[in-house]
Amino acid sequence: MGGISHETNTFSPMKTTLDAFRARAYLVGDAVVQQGRGARNVLGGIVDAATEAGATLVPTLFASATPGGVVTREAFEHLRDRLLDRLRPPYTGPLPLSGVVLALHGAMVAEGEEDAEGALLRDVRAVIGPNVPLVAVLDFHANVSSLMATSADLLIGYGTYPHVDTYERGQEAVEHVLTLRRRPLHPATALRIVPLLAPLPAQRTTGPTPMRDVMRHAEAFRREPGVVSISVAGGFPYSDVPAAGLSVHVATDGDQSLADSLADRVASTVWDRRARFATRGLPPDEAIDQALDLTKPGRPVVLADVADNPGAGAAGDGTTLLARLLARGVTGAALGVIADPETVAAAAGVGVGGVVQRGVGGRTDSRTGAPVEAAWRVCALTDGAFTNRGPMGTGGATRLGRTAVLEAGGVEVVVCERRVQALDPELFRAAGIDPAARRVLAVKSSVHFRAAFEPLAAAVLEVETPGLSGSDLVSLPYRRVRRPIWPLDREVRFLA
Ligand SMILES: [Zn+2]
Repeated sequence: MGGISHETNTFSPMKTTLDAFRARAYLVGDAVVQQGRGARNVLGGIVDAATEAGATLVPTLFASATPGGVVTREAFEHLRDRLLDRLRPPYTGPLPLSGVVLALHGAMVAEGEEDAEGALLRDVRAVIGPNVPLVAVLDFHANVSSLMATSADLLIGYGTYPHVDTYERGQEAVEHVLTLRRRPLHPATALRIVPLLAPLPAQRTTGPTPMRDVMRHAEAFRREPGVVSISVAGGFPYSDVPAAGLSVHVATDGDQSLADSLADRVASTVWDRRARFATRGLPPDEAIDQALDLTKPGRPVVLADVADNPGAGAAGDGTTLLARLLARGVTGAALGVIADPETVAAAAGVGVGGVVQRGVGGRTDSRTGAPVEAAWRVCALTDGAFTNRGPMGTGGATRLGRTAVLEAGGVEVVVCERRVQALDPELFRAAGIDPAARRVLAVKSSVHFRAAFEPLAAAVLEVETPGLSGSDLVSLPYRRVRRPIWPLDREVRFLA
C-alpha cells in the first residue's frame, strides 16, 4: 500500500515542492499504517479492511501536499522512486505479493509529466508484473487518463462531493484486491472521458445539482448483474491537461460489451445535462445584500468564496470579499481563513488586545484584491490546531499554523500561516468564534464546507471573486486541454 496525492492547479504560479509534501504528509514504511489506523479517510479504510481480512500490509510511502501549482520534477521523481523502491527486489515483505492498493488523487501534474498518476501506475505495473492485482483509489476530482485505466486493474473513485465516503472507498479497494487475487478472471473496463469541464460548485453530489442526478443513474446501473464498479469523476478543471474533464469508468466481471454500454449510458446522462454544469456565483455585493435579508438569530448565512479556495490550489489570501464586508459595514461577520504569515507575526508581536495597523491578505496576486488596510484589534492568538468534527474528515487534525483573530468594524477575520480550505466550523470555534452567534460567515471553499456548515446556516450563497478556482472557465487561458470541449467551444460532438 502507498500513494502520492496532489491536486494540481496548473494556473497557479506557486510550484509544489518536496517541502510542500513534507509540510502536509510524507510518511514512509510503518508510519503509513500508523497514520491510517483509526482515521476516517482512504488510508484508514485500507488499513482497517486489510486488518479485518487478516492480510499483511506492506507500507511503501504515502505523501500528500496542499493543492497548488505544478509539482516540481525533483519532488515527483523523489516520491515516485521511494514508492517504487519498496516494491522492487530485493523485496523483503511476505511473498508472493497478493496485490497493490494505492491512494492517489488523479489530478496531479508534475514538470514534464502531465499525467503523473498514469506514469506512476505504469511504473508500478512494470515493477510488479502483469499478474499482481493493482487497484487505485482516486479523488472525485481525478482527471482520469487512458494510461491510468490500462495500467491498473481497477480504479475506484470517491462517489461524493463533499467527500464523505473516502474511508469506504479505501475498504472497497482492499476487498477488490483480495477478490482479484482469488480469481484468474480479469475485469473488463471501459473509460469515457466526456468533453466537459465542470466548475467545482456544479459538481456537488448533494442538493439540486446535475451531478446528483448522474450519481443516481450510476448507482442504479451499479446494481446490475456482472458490474464490479462504476466511478464517475467530476474532474479537476484547473488542471490544463489533455485528460481534464468529467469521466466515467466502468468495470465488469469480464464482460467488455457490458462495460462499454454502461459507460456510454452513464456518460450520456452527463452529456445530456451539460448546460446545467455552467454555474456562476453571485457578485460580492449582491451576495451581501441577500445574506443580510436571509440571516436569522442563531442561524448565520454562509458566503462561500468559491474562487479563492486553497483546496483547489488558489492562493487563499484574496481580499475581494473581506474588503466589501468592511466597506459595507457588515457587523457580526466572520471570515476564515486568510493565509498571511507576516500579519500573524505582527499580531503576535502586539499580543491579544493590541492593535496592528496594516494591510491583511492580498500578497500573492494583485488581481484577487489588495491588502485590506485597517486598525486591526487582536482578539485571539492560537496555535491553529484543531480536530475536525466532520462529517468530512471526522477525527482528523487540521493545522492552520499560528493563527490570529483580527477585528475591525465588526468584521472578524481568522488569519493563519498555512493555506487551508475552511471546511469545518471547528476552525472558527478553535479561534474563539461561535459560528451560530454571527450573522454572516465567509469561508474560502467551493463545496466541502457544505457538509458541516449547511446544518447550522440559514442559507448558503456562492460568491464569485477573482481567483484561481472561479466558475467562469471560459476566461481561463487553457492551452493543453483537448479541444473541442464544452463550455470552451460551441461545437462539441459526443456519443452522437
Ligand atoms: Zn476532491
